[in-house]
Amino acid sequence: MIASERVALIEAVSAAVIAEAPALTDLDQAIGDGDHGINMKRGFEAVLADLPQHAEKPWPDLLRAIGMVLVMKVGGASGPLFGTLFMELGKALPAEPAAGDLAPALAAAIVAVQARGRSEPGQKTMLDVLVPVQQALAAGQTAPDILQTANAAADATIALKAVRGRASFLGDRSIGHMDPGARSVAVIVGAVVRFLEGQR
Ligand code: ADP
Ligand code: MG
Repeated sequence: MIASERVALIEAVSAAVIAEAPALTDLDQAIGDGDHGINMKRGFEAVLADLPQHAEKPWPDLLRAIGMVLVMKVGGASGPLFGTLFMELGKALPAEPAAGDLAPALAAAIVAVQARGRSEPGQKTMLDVLVPVQQALAAGQTAPDILQTANAAADATIALKAVRGRASFLGDRSIGHMDPGARSVAVIVGAVVRFLEGQR
């Protein structure tokens, strides 16, 4: 991928998250404090604002720069976690990633997110989409199948009881609502998949 394509992909991801902000906030209103969409929008607006500065950077540096912006700007519990996700992806990917590099890099990034959040899959968090998406990548699923996996995994958080984050304060009352962070991951995956499909 050339520099202009990398920038266009990040723009597409940012635009998708920003467009979804009201829905993400609605989800967080049900089981959190109603700021997740606002947080993610603020973060990805900052990513867009900073992007010209990083336009020529290869993937590892670009992703690390994005991760740092997200840590600084998203805030809440999710800021350091989404920041870690992007920073660690940057650390794990080679300068010129091939398709096969993504699954192991995402696996490494997930380990870092879990360490940061002291969390694991099954606790109704962003990990409940990240982990199935990583498994789908590792299994060599096609891009549309990976998007299906992401959306189904976000839907599947509805039935889970929150054990981490603010939603865990609700205990059993967190059941019946989709996790906002899980939905954010599905939105990001959707934007990446649609971008790559559009390129072919
Ligand atoms: P806050 O909870 O501080 O208001 P946000 O509303 O921005 O932060 O983000 C909430 C989301 O963060 C949750 O939906 C969940 O997906 C994710 N999250 C929160 N705590 C953790 C954790 N310990 N591990 C993984 N993800 C978490
Ligand atoms: Mg919140």
